[in-house]
Amino acid sequence: MDTRLSEFEPISIQKYVQELDLLANPILNAKEKEFLADFYEFIEKNLDKDLRALEELNYYVEEPTQDKKRDIVIKIMKKLAENGYYSTTLNENEYEVGKITRNALIAYALCGGRWSDYSERYIAGNWSIEMGRLAGGTLYCNPVNYKANDYQREKFLNPIAKDGAIAASAMTEFNAGSDIFRMELNLQVTDDKVIAKGKKVFITNGMIADYIILYGRINNGPLGAVIVDTEHQQLKNFRSARIRTYGMRDAFVSRLIFDRVELPRENLLQGNGLDIAFHQLTEERLVIGAEALGDAMKKLLYSHTYALHRRQFEQRLHEYQVIRFPISANIRQLNLLLTALINYTRELDKRPELGGSKLMAAQAMGLKIQTTELAFEAATHCFRTMGGRGFIRQYSNPIGLLDAYCMLHGGGSNYVLEDSESRRLFKYKPTRRELEDVIPKIDL
Ligand SMILES: Cc1cc2nc3c(=O)[nH]c(=O)nc-3n(C[C@H](O)[C@H](O)[C@H](O)COP(=O)(O)OP(=O)(O)OC[C@H]3O[C@@H](n4cnc5c(N)ncnc54)[C@H](O)[C@@H]3O)c2cc1C
Repeated sequence: MDTRLSEFEPISIQKYVQELDLLANPILNAKEKEFLADFYEFIEKNLDKDLRALEELNYYVEEPTQDKKRDIVIKIMKKLAENGYYSTTLNENEYEVGKITRNALIAYALCGGRWSDYSERYIAGNWSIEMGRLAGGTLYCNPVNYKANDYQREKFLNPIAKDGAIAASAMTEFNAGSDIFRMELNLQVTDDKVIAKGKKVFITNGMIADYIILYGRINNGPLGAVIVDTEHQQLKNFRSARIRTYGMRDAFVSRLIFDRVELPRENLLQGNGLDIAFHQLTEERLVIGAEALGDAMKKLLYSHTYALHRRQFEQRLHEYQVIRFPISANIRQLNLLLTALINYTRELDKRPELGGSKLMAAQAMGLKIQTTELAFEAATHCFRTMGGRGFIRQYSNPIGLLDAYCMLHGGGSNYVLEDSESRRLFKYKPTRRELEDVIPKIDL
């Protein structure tokens, strides 16, 4: 059943807004603009039809849509990979823009979409699809690229990074969310096998993935990581199911069960699981920041359009300051944060050793917090500006109105990040003098 009411006109973005166009932003250099312009053209020519087909499926209720969605998502990831847009880990020398900056520009564009001068319409972005790209292309490919031996690289990196197979990164468990040290999934390692037993939850791409990097405890001890080839989801004793989310409706966020799944010992990655998972943390935070900014841009475009056209009390909505001010305040903030983001990604590309810097990781964490909060705020303003329409599927669906709500938790919950950020600021080591002052008092 189609849920759309014929009385409601779709909100159609009809006006180019220079302040919301990254290609017009003076912060990007010529090479970055060229890369971004090519990617926008790729979205318009190769993905737009698929993205619209996904949007269409979200209007239906009481009809099975999951298999259709899965096929479209798989097709999109393949197209991205064929054009070097899925993972940016390989073939670095072929590009004039660094891999982290490329990753961030793709993320921004895929979430935000863009006004097309060519066809004079808005080409939609989709944060769920970008989440799937991030999970496979970055959260899976980067750690595998970091630790894989030649055999593992050939077998478990190239099919994903080059050919676009779907992949996932499985860390979160029912009892180990923010507190990742509480992970319980056991990886029992024998001479020739690894036997995985345990459950994972909230795993993006989990139920459509061909490959999963699975984190767990090696023989119930230290954390490790193993690659699971799901044999196209037919692997014995492995089960996966979709978790129904209210936002991110085209991302296959899943629950996974490993009921003594047997894996070849060659699939085990060498090294500590936490190091494998977190060595690319700074990049991940920056790319999520780019996603959030792309998403905020999209929400602002929709709020702007609606405020321009909707009339109430014989005025257009934008004539009321209460509607106009939050939109322009958010646009100012968006452009400031974009400047910070591009400077961080460029610097990290130039000096890869910064990936190991604690201060850089903290600054990327700060950016992740501010950008996802901005996306959240822009979504809230959009919801307010649209009145009752924001509440129904017909309008919230093309805008992806609730996506930003999920991302206050994805990639590290904002409260946890804020707590550790503020703790670090107030970390206090007493001076020798202070210690000496205290010791005599204790002696007394
Ligand atoms: C859309 C989406 C996609 C995801 N994809 C993946 C994926 O691909 N792979 C994967 O492994 N995981 C994934 N996750 C899981 C995500 O990493 C977890 O949701 C996140 O780590 C938080 O864990 P939790 O949900 O158990 O929340 P909890 O840990 O239960 O936290 C609940 C609340 O308490 C707060 N809190 C917890 N500890 C502290 C603290 N020390 N100080 C202050 N506040 C605190 C949190 O910020 C949060 O607001 C995804 C999540 C979402 C929403």
